[in-house]
Parts: sequence; structure tokens; C-alpha cells
Amino acid sequence: MSWSDLAMNGRILIVDDAMENIQILHHALRDEHDVLFALSGEKALQIAHNQQPDLILLDAVMPGMDGYEVCGALRASAAVRDIPVIFVTALSTPEDETRALEAGAVDFISKPFNVAVVRARVRTQLTVKRQADAMRELTLTDSLTGVANRRSFNEAMDNEWRRCGRDGTPVAIIMIDIDHFKHYNDAYGHQAGDLCLQQVSAAMKRCAGRPPDLLARYGGEEFIILLPQVGAEGAEVVAQRILDEVRLLQIPHKASSVGPQVTVSMGVSTAMPDDQSDASALIRRADALLYRAKETGRNRYCMSPQD
Ligand code: GH3
Ligand code: MG
Ligand code: MG
Repeated sequence: MSWSDLAMNGRILIVDDAMENIQILHHALRDEHDVLFALSGEKALQIAHNQQPDLILLDAVMPGMDGYEVCGALRASAAVRDIPVIFVTALSTPEDETRALEAGAVDFISKPFNVAVVRARVRTQLTVKRQADAMRELTLTDSLTGVANRRSFNEAMDNEWRRCGRDGTPVAIIMIDIDHFKHYNDAYGHQAGDLCLQQVSAAMKRCAGRPPDLLARYGGEEFIILLPQVGAEGAEVVAQRILDEVRLLQIPHKASSVGPQVTVSMGVSTAMPDDQSDASALIRRADALLYRAKETGRNRYCMSPQD
């Protein structure tokens, strides 16, 4: 994607209680973008959650929820917090402008509109938003395998631990380590090792790749899967599926003591999150169970009887 592409084809939500204003803005933007609109603040929040626009043009003064309140509500919800808001208003004193920026707006457009200015400001903010998205994606993804990295896992683990705690649902963790991977590298070379990591992670993603499940590379040839709202039985199903999928890959491994193909070992642990416990104990347990799977012959998963 080139720089100029970053400024085009956005999904723009226009919020204004006056249909006439929506029509003018729609007209200004429709050639370059996909345009959605809402006639009230309440409706705008609903659309923002459901349609995830790239940018919101928000009228400051509306009956019911006004623009400042809408902006506050957007900032308070993780799912829509990062959607940039441009305030659109006839109020244009420095105080109005300051208030909009303090509410979390990224820019400010005065009525009556100048169509060229509206287009240009939308392009600029869209570019900034997409650059930020790309940067965030980079910081959360493992570049070799394309799955989440450890930082991303930690973030998701914290959120899901709290969410499941509130909902009274369990959380499961699977720690996965490729068996005799050092020997694999020694036998086939580091590049083949990289390819193997990509294949194994893709196979695991097929077993637990749908949100809110999260597969992450935890380090080297070690992966971790977060399964929110999943108990011991469900986690065991996923672990068994991973053994099966990795076997189906049929990646030769002549230097393994386990058999002629690449295999993995896993530790599976589950918990009911509460105020007294924390996620690190759950991860430590999975790690200890992974160690046990290694000790007892590899190519298997271990769970604790209490899980
Ligand atoms: P075990 O069955 O006990 O897990 O033995 P192992 O050899 O798999 O474990 P060990 O921790 O001794 O070795 C891990 C190896 O993984 C060593 C390291 O070179 C390799 N490795 C880690 N990251 C990468 C990577 O990104 N690419 C490749 N090709 N190899 C990697
Ligand atoms: Mg290993
Ligand atoms: Mg290891």
C-alpha cells in the first residue's frame, strides 16, 4: 500500500442531528470513502461498535447525547477507543476548540463547511490512523510466524483474566514446545527450522485461532494458547487436536528420539479467576506440566488431576 492509498477508501461515520449537514458531508466524501451516518449520539455509539469505522465526524451540538458526551463514551470503551474523532461545529471560539480536543478529538472542522478542507482533513487523519494501526500490528505480532507475540499475549491474558473473573467462567492455558528442536536445526539447518516453526504454528492456529482464543509465540520454539471461557474438558480437546494436526503435517525429523516426525509436548492448566489468584500461577502450572510431558516421553500433553 502506498502513502496515498492510506488516505483513501476509509469507512467514515458522519454524526449530525441535521440531515442537511450529513448530505453535504456525504457529498464531499463519498467519492473517496465508504460513508455511514447517524442522526444521534446514541445511534453513533451503536454504529461505532458494530461497524468499526476508521474515522468519525462528530457534530458537537445535538439534542440528547451531545458530541462531547459521545466522545467521552467512545474513549471509555476499549473496542472503539482508538477510532479518531473530528469535531464538526459552528461553535468556534478557542474555548470550544479546546473543549473538543480535551474530550479526545484529533481535529476540529468549523461550519459552514469548506468541502476541500473537509476532504483534506479526513485524508490526513485517516493516514495517521492507518499508520498507528500498522505500528500497533507490528508491535503485537511475531514476524516469523505471524501469530501474536508475548507482549500481545500478556495484554490479552490480563484482559481475559479480569473478564472471566467478572463472568465467573474458567480460563485455560496450553503451553506448547516443539520436541528436540535443537536437533532439528542441527540436522536440517536454521532456515528449515524457521519453516518448521511456521508450519507448526499454522497447524496450531487451525486448532485454536478464533477469537477470543489466542495463539502466541512465547519464545523460541515455545508457544502458548489462551482459551477464555474454556474448562479442562475443552482444553483437552484442543490439546488432542494439536497433537493430531502436527502429526498430519508429517514433517520429517531424523534426529528425534520420539519418532521419525516433528512432534510437540504440552502442558495444560485451567483456573477460575478470582481476586485472590493471578494469571501467572496458571502459566507456571502449565509450564510445570509441559516439563512433565517432556520427562514422560514427549509427543503428549499433561494436565493436573485437579484441573
Ligand atoms: P526439548 O524437546 O526438550 O524441548 O528440546 P529442544 O531441543 O526442543 O529444546 P531447547 O530449548 O534445547 O532448544 C530450542 C531450540 O530452538 C534452540 C534454538 O536454536 C531453536 N530456536 C529458537 N528460536 C528459533 C527460531 O526462530 N528459528 C529456528 N530455526 N530455531 C529456533
Ligand atoms: Mg523444544
Ligand atoms: Mg524450549
